[in-house]
Amino acid sequence: MIDLDKLTIKTAHEHLMKGDFSAVDLVKTYLAEIEKKNPELNAYLEVYDDVLEQAKVADERISKGENHPLLGIPLAIKDNILVAGKKATSASKILEGFVAPYDSTVISKLKKQGAVFLGRTNMDEFALGSSTENSAYGVTKNPHDTSRVPGGTSGGSAAAVASDMTLGAIGSDTGGSLRLPAAFCGVVGMKPTYGGVSRYGLMAAVSSFDVIGSLGKTVEDAQILFEAIKGRDVLDSTSIDSDSLSKKQLIIGVPWDLINQEGIDLKVKENFKKVVKNLEKLGYKIKDIKLPNCLALYYIINFAEVSSNLARFDGVKYGLHIDGKNLLEDYVLTRGQGFGKEVRRRILLGTYVLSAGYYDAYYGKAQKARTALKKEFTEMFKEIDLVLTPTSPIPAWKIGEKSDPLSVYLADVFTVTANIVGLPAISIPSGFMELEGLPAQAGKKLPLGIQFMAPHSGEDLLFEVGKKFLNEVL
Ligand code: GLN
Repeated sequence: MIDLDKLTIKTAHEHLMKGDFSAVDLVKTYLAEIEKKNPELNAYLEVYDDVLEQAKVADERISKGENHPLLGIPLAIKDNILVAGKKATSASKILEGFVAPYDSTVISKLKKQGAVFLGRTNMDEFALGSSTENSAYGVTKNPHDTSRVPGGTSGGSAAAVASDMTLGAIGSDTGGSLRLPAAFCGVVGMKPTYGGVSRYGLMAAVSSFDVIGSLGKTVEDAQILFEAIKGRDVLDSTSIDSDSLSKKQLIIGVPWDLINQEGIDLKVKENFKKVVKNLEKLGYKIKDIKLPNCLALYYIINFAEVSSNLARFDGVKYGLHIDGKNLLEDYVLTRGQGFGKEVRRRILLGTYVLSAGYYDAYYGKAQKARTALKKEFTEMFKEIDLVLTPTSPIPAWKIGEKSDPLSVYLADVFTVTANIVGLPAISIPSGFMELEGLPAQAGKKLPLGIQFMAPHSGEDLLFEVGKKFLNEVL
């Protein structure tokens, strides 16, 4: 019997190498767990039919003496990352039945290292949302409380890690999509520096924000996955090799003004204050810093790039096609019925902010603000080494509770900034909050998370502080 609860990528690797169990044994255990839990949680949209064959190949490689940290390790893949020959839909009806014609760079790297792909996971359609409620294939449920959302947009991936339906997962982050679900599900979510991981084979949402990253139960696991997928790639001209930063005494900046503003849950604040005290006890210096609320800036650029990126889905080349009387009607019918409500909202708003007459007032201004923000960060990182905030201003909400899109956007207040300026960030579990009130909630606990942001290519700093915090405080 393999005890999945305790298992991490690191320990599973040691067991595989020692021959305590085989990769086939391991994936069989995961497949059984998926069969048991996925019908309720809906974290996987599809479990691949060749999982056992993949594991057999890994076992052969192990028996020949190969040794990679991910050899034989089962992983879940977000539905917007291409795996050759497998379906990929970005959880959209418009891509129903679409089969990936090639491997994304991330997948080729993982294949070379012998990882085993269990299946593709649920997400908000085209990675637009914060709760996985915008999937065309039903919401994923939070394993800690199935009446609540798992966060988004990589909600399927985070829920799968949290419920032991995989050891680790790969997802994407445009404005918090790895970090928010990590916080809501009590796991670690890591967003690399912009370009730190190749985007080749990732379905584009906001090309100037998008980055692929990892989810795991521990900081070590998120790091192992990042190390396996990182680096410059000739197929993505924005990709880079990361350097490694290290420092003796880290100074952590905390934007108290932003954290003390209205709309931040009191228990989130309480938990965060405890975290800050504990970090001080560990010897970190804490400094008050100023950070603006970047939501308006983020969403204007998001809408603009989404409207442009999603123009390619016209029913001619990919996925769904609905016949009209002429070509224009084909487009209108296919896009009208293929895209969900949030996607259509963003296409409309994005087209508006890019239109002649409004371009300068919205998009142009947002780009100028983005440049100014980057400069502010460069200055700020002369005085501090890391920025610390809660990951989310509120804990996981009830499924269906938020009907107004603006109130959902507000959940991203702490995460979007890292994407605007392209910096690496990590979400780490920081404990639980008890639910009170309704009798049905009594005794239930929801995970909370904190976020560290580092300077460009500062992933190592995030791993260092993250490990220290999880090992010594939590
Ligand atoms: N919640 C943000 C949005 O809806 C971020 C999503 C993401 O990171 N893909 O745009």
